[in-house]
Amino acid sequence: MQFHDSMISLVGNTPLVKLNNVTAGIQATVLAKVEYFNPGGSVKDRIAVRMIEAAEQSGELKPGGTIVEPTSGNTGVGLAIVAQQKGYKCIFVCPDKVSLDKINVLRAYGADVVVCPTAVDPEHPDSYYNVSDRLVRETPGAWKPDQYSNPNNPRSHYETTGPELWEQTDGKITHFVAGVGTGGTISGTGNYLKEASGGSVKVIGADPEGSVYSGGSGRPYLVEGVGEDFWPTAYDRNVTDRIVAVSDKDSFQMTRRLAKEEGLLVGGSCGMAVVAALEVAKELGPDDVVVVLLPDSGRGYMSKIFSDEWMAGHGFLEDTSTSTVADVLR
Ligand code: PMP
Repeated sequence: MQFHDSMISLVGNTPLVKLNNVTAGIQATVLAKVEYFNPGGSVKDRIAVRMIEAAEQSGELKPGGTIVEPTSGNTGVGLAIVAQQKGYKCIFVCPDKVSLDKINVLRAYGADVVVCPTAVDPEHPDSYYNVSDRLVRETPGAWKPDQYSNPNNPRSHYETTGPELWEQTDGKITHFVAGVGTGGTISGTGNYLKEASGGSVKVIGADPEGSVYSGGSGRPYLVEGVGEDFWPTAYDRNVTDRIVAVSDKDSFQMTRRLAKEEGLLVGGSCGMAVVAALEVAKELGPDDVVVVLLPDSGRGYMSKIFSDEWMAGHGFLEDTSTSTVADVLR
């Protein structure tokens, strides 16, 4: 019989897929690491497994305990799946810009979700950082993974994402591009690839315009899961050779192109990372291999990025994809 003991053992070992159409005019090979193949649908399943197992080993998380975490959705899904399989409860705190689709997914996996306003300072008592701190203090048996400072976040990528990419490319990867949220993905993967290649792999961060990583102040932007208004300790600033700032409009238009031209229905931070990857790749030659990591699926963004009304309302839409019979027959 061939089966997995639980969904937990399906985390990682995601495929690499060549981008063939959005790369027109580019000589370098551009490969996408498609993280929606993880059981929870995103790259964050990797950190969930590693953070929970480490907390069990250290004794911070005890049998029957409760996991409390501020998360924009994907980390929550990963934690919720691992937690339910291991018998823990979950309470998640989300900013109000997160799509209702994502919040309902967390609830479907059995988690409690508390929604907080985005338009307040991190110091404000209602900010999602402070609400989660209070829930940790007041819930018996609570443990907060804190993906922003937990060393097991970057470590999970150092132990899985990095080695997978090195093996999948047979050591030929020359550039690694990823969006920066907590910084865990880029730091763990980037450091592994630099060590494995003797320092030759270049690591490029993609950041929403306005976020601190590309020199902004944290001005609100619409791409979810990336960019920050502070510097998390999970992010190793020394790992990035370059940061490329990408606008919401460019991010979302590329996200739509990935679905239409590459068969990849992915999230907005994926479009953002691909814009940055193409920016880097256009200066490279035929021997270069650029890998761009695509964190999640587009299913959680159907009422935003993939809605013509929403896109037009934000001035992001140039051509509408809604057709009349006359348009189709023309
Ligand atoms: N994209 C999405 C959709 C995410 O949820 C995250 C995680 N916050 C990222 C990108 C960035 O990954 P990391 O936190 O490892 O920097």
